[in-house]
Formats: sequence, C-alpha cells, structure tokens
Amino acid sequence: MDMIEVAQRRQQEEIEHALAARPMQATGRTHCANAECGEPIVQVRQQMGAQLCIDCQRAVERGAQSCARGAV
Ligand SMILES: [Zn+2]
Repeated sequence: MDMIEVAQRRQQEEIEHALAARPMQATGRTHCANAECGEPIVQVRQQMGAQLCIDCQRAVERGAQSCARGAV
C-alpha cells in the first residue's frame, strides 16, 4: 500500500511541476505568430493570450468553422 501511495504522490508532484512550467496563459504575443504577417497585436488581445493578430485569428476561426461544418 505504501508503494502505491508514494507513486501517487510522485505523480501528483510531476503534474504540479508540469503546470508550473507551463507559460502563463494570460501572456500573449506582442506580434502576430504568423511569420508572413507579423502585425502587432492589440494589448487587450495580448492579455487574453492571443497568438495571432485579429485578421489572422478571424481567418483561422473561419477555417475552423468551415472544417467543422464539413465534418458534420
Ligand atoms: Zn496576423
């Protein structure tokens, strides 16, 4: 029983480490992640953790929607 308890505790610690190592989700990029674009991202969207400028984000969302619709 002790072995299991130790293993569980270690697993829990590993999960906590992984979570701590993850970059803060609230910190977005200052410029668009699309290398061909590189447009600055407005501060409000940066705080929301945006990775793309509004134009690229819209293009992605449009693409995702059409993909989802195609799948259904
Ligand atoms: Zn962009």
